[in-house]
Amino acid sequence: MKLFGKNDLQKKYPLVTGKDQEILRVVCDPVSKVTSEIKQFAADIQQLMRDYEWVWLAAPQIGINHRMAAITQRDLSNKDADGNTKWELLDEFVIINPKILAASETLKIDNEACLSLPGLKWDVARPHKITIQYLWVDGETHIHKATGFNARVILHEMDHLDGILFIDKLA
Ligand SMILES: [Zn+2]
Repeated sequence: MKLFGKNDLQKKYPLVTGKDQEILRVVCDPVSKVTSEIKQFAADIQQLMRDYEWVWLAAPQIGINHRMAAITQRDLSNKDADGNTKWELLDEFVIINPKILAASETLKIDNEACLSLPGLKWDVARPHKITIQYLWVDGETHIHKATGFNARVILHEMDHLDGILFIDKLA
């Protein structure tokens, strides 16, 4: 018997939904070493993010207690013929043990949604510009700067790694 609309990865790592799920409320454990298992998990979570046609996905959202998340960075400056933002893909990667090195005092408010909280959309204030440090699957430390929506993606994911959901941040 085949579950319609669910691929093998989605069955292996079911999406956790609901604000009171324990895994969504814990501080996730740092990854101590980028092993072959961690590399495989990085590939899996990145693929899952694509399968869900989503822009971000953190490990606890699929039941795994690692400080890891798959993110995309997008160019929102172009619109299609109907005036809708094109969300063009600029970059896609997995961050491991991310840390904020700098965040602007300027906050921007924008609408957010979350795969773990289906149907909810709220305005959340977040720093406009950030600089983060993270481990990549090659085991090296990388620095990444992001602005606007792309900073928001990363901050939303980093909150997940600390058991924080965007509904906790409503003004
Ligand atoms: Zn989320």
